[in-house]
Amino acid sequence: MLRRALMAAAASDQIRGLLTGTPAARAMVARYVAGDNASDAVRVARELRAAGLLVTLDYLGEDTKDALRAAAVRTEYITLLEKLQADGLTADGAVEVSVKPTAVGLLLPSPDGAPPRARQAGDSAAGERLAFENIERIAAAADAAGTTVTIDAEDHRTTDASLRIAGRLRERYPSVGSVVQASLRRTETDVRALATAGSDDAPRVRLCKGAYNEPVSEAFTDPHEIDKSFARCLRVLMEGPGYPMVATHDPRLVRIAAALGLARPFGSFEYQMLYGIRADEQARLAASGASVRVYVPYGGDWYGYLVRRLAERPASLGLLLRSLYSPGGKHQPPGPPGRAPFGRVTPASRRLVVPPAPRSVRGNAGRPTKPPTR
Ligand SMILES: Cc1cc2nc3c(=O)[nH]c(=O)nc-3n(C[C@H](O)[C@H](O)[C@H](O)COP(=O)(O)OP(=O)(O)OC[C@H]3O[C@@H](n4cnc5c(N)ncnc54)[C@H](O)[C@@H]3O)c2cc1C
Repeated sequence: MLRRALMAAAASDQIRGLLTGTPAARAMVARYVAGDNASDAVRVARELRAAGLLVTLDYLGEDTKDALRAAAVRTEYITLLEKLQADGLTADGAVEVSVKPTAVGLLLPSPDGAPPRARQAGDSAAGERLAFENIERIAAAADAAGTTVTIDAEDHRTTDASLRIAGRLRERYPSVGSVVQASLRRTETDVRALATAGSDDAPRVRLCKGAYNEPVSEAFTDPHEIDKSFARCLRVLMEGPGYPMVATHDPRLVRIAAALGLARPFGSFEYQMLYGIRADEQARLAASGASVRVYVPYGGDWYGYLVRRLAERPASLGLLLRSLYSPGGKHQPPGPPGRAPFGRVTPASRRLVVPPAPRSVRGNAGRPTKPPTR
């Protein structure tokens, strides 16, 4: 309920203008976003590597609707990968990149002019082809630098196209990763297919709860149902031959992953958390020997990302909204208009059966990181 209210409020260009202009918003951006440009991203990646953490970098932006902008995003990633390689950060996949298909053209209108939102997103063959070609070039640059790409999951209308793009890319670059969202009803079926795809060559799969506001026909909306779906999907992935990437800050799900991970070969899965969230837990897991990758966004188009994080943390949003009414907050110049997707709200309590925490967690932190070669 609160999330839907946030969605309605944050989608307004007026609210966007107010929020992007406040000093409080800028302070929150600094917590969750590495900075405006590739140099900031490289600096933060270097710091995280020095702390024994793996990294995936995301150039912020989504819903690109023209081919030139999509090409600019592709170029940004390729330049970033060159900088990372020059800094020695990409070896063995220690720093990789995450790419949103809609940022590189998935929503490009079809040549008949039908707007993609009037159809199924990702339905435009032209959009899917463009996104594939752009990500393929990013994957080639990543491969040349000794690392790889993970294809982020966006709203449910893009799921089929995103999974297809990743599957096609894996024919040439087997380490390209897919992302699935436990909130979607279809995901348990998807992870079963992914977990057994190619048996020896089963892919890297990031499992997250899902940050988009979805219709009840497509997604679980009860947080407890989402958690149960996460646990079911996690079990499928952890019992499969692939490389699971467990993307959550939820302590109970982290404990379940640790317990299931005890039955897996050494270093055959990783935890993933977002930059600026539960940094203490990231450090604790890494110190315990686990592989931990931090998802680090950068770039000027941070509004949608910030709103998703705030929707997961209503208390922070309250602070931010209050700042609009504080001196220096209300009359700041507005930022650029645009659209933003939104995330879920974390409930105060929910019940989930969790196995006891294991004494240790398997992984390979503290050693040179070995990338999944699949
Ligand atoms: C590495 C990574 C990659 C992701 N990639 C995608 C993707 O491709 N597509 C997609 O839809 N979603 C993605 N997500 C987002 C994900 O779907 C969730 O929206 C987000 O992770 C919050 O869910 P949670 O599992 O942490 O659980 P929650 O139930 O939201 O949170 C669990 C606990 O984590 C802590 N916490 C959560 N959020 C915050 C916060 N903002 N500040 C402080 N503490 C917090 C709190 O202690 C909270 O109780 C990704 C998340 C991660 C970690």
